[in-house]
Amino acid sequence: MALRERQGVLMEATLVDTHAHLDFPELARDLASVLDRASRAGVREIVTIGIDLESSRKAVKLAGEHDRIYAAVGIHPHGARRIDDATLDSLRSLAGRDKVVAIGEIGFDRQTDEEEAAIRAQLKLAKRFDMPVLVHLPHQFKKQGTERTLRVVADEQMNPDRVLLDHNTEETMPLYAGTKYWRGMSIYPVTKLSVERAANIVEQYGVDRLLVNSACDWGPSDPLNVPKLVRELLRRNLSRDLIEQLVFRNPIAFFGQSDRWTFRP
Ligand SMILES: [Zn+2]
Ligand SMILES: [Zn+2]
Repeated sequence: MALRERQGVLMEATLVDTHAHLDFPELARDLASVLDRASRAGVREIVTIGIDLESSRKAVKLAGEHDRIYAAVGIHPHGARRIDDATLDSLRSLAGRDKVVAIGEIGFDRQTDEEEAAIRAQLKLAKRFDMPVLVHLPHQFKKQGTERTLRVVADEQMNPDRVLLDHNTEETMPLYAGTKYWRGMSIYPVTKLSVERAANIVEQYGVDRLLVNSACDWGPSDPLNVPKLVRELLRRNLSRDLIEQLVFRNPIAFFGQSDRWTFRP
C-alpha cells in the first residue's frame, strides 16, 4: 500500500474520511457523484455522522446501501438542545445496527448546562456499548469549550482510546498535552481551518492520535479536502509513511476498535 501520485492524482484508494454528513441536502442531492469524485481522489471509506435521530437513521441507511460508508449515531447540539428518555432509547437501538461504528457527534455548541447533560448521557451510552465516541468542539469560544469538554469526558471516566474530539485548531492543540484522546481536524474550504493551516498543525504536532476529515457540514465544505491536504503535505516533503499514518492507519486504528468496522488494509 502506498500513496502513489501521478499528475496530481492519487493513484490508490488510501484515505479514510472520518467525518462527513452525507445526508445533508447539498450532498445527498447528488450523492452518487460526490462518492464518485471522492473515490477517484483516493477516499476509501467514509464515516457519515448523525446529528439528530432523523439524520442518524439516514446515516444507518446510507451505510446499509454503500459498501464504503459507515455510520455514527448521535444527537448534536445543533440537532437538539435537550434529549429525553425516548430519544435515548431510540439512540440505543440505532447504536446496535449494522455498520454503526461510533456514537456521535455529540458536544457543546453554546456551552449550556442542557448541552452538558446531553453529552454526559451519550458518553454513558458509548461507554455501556464500549463504542468509540465522536465529540464536536464548539466553533465559538473554542478554547474554553474544549477545556470544558475535556473536563466532562474525564469526569465520565471515558477510555481515552475511544474518544475523538473533533474540529481542533492551533488554539486547542496545546490542550491535549499529556492526554491520550484522539484529536480530529476538520478542513474547510472557506471558513475555520484551511488546508494550509491544517498542514502547519501536522508539521508542528506530528500525527500521533491525529485524524483529519472534510466535515461536510453546515458551512461550505469540500469532500475532497482530505486528498487536498495529502497533496499539500507531499508538497512540503513530509514522509509518505507519516501521511499514511494520518489519513489511513490512524482512522483504521480508531474506528477499528468497533467490531463492526470490517475494513482492514
Ligand atoms: Zn461538528
Ligand atoms: Zn459534523
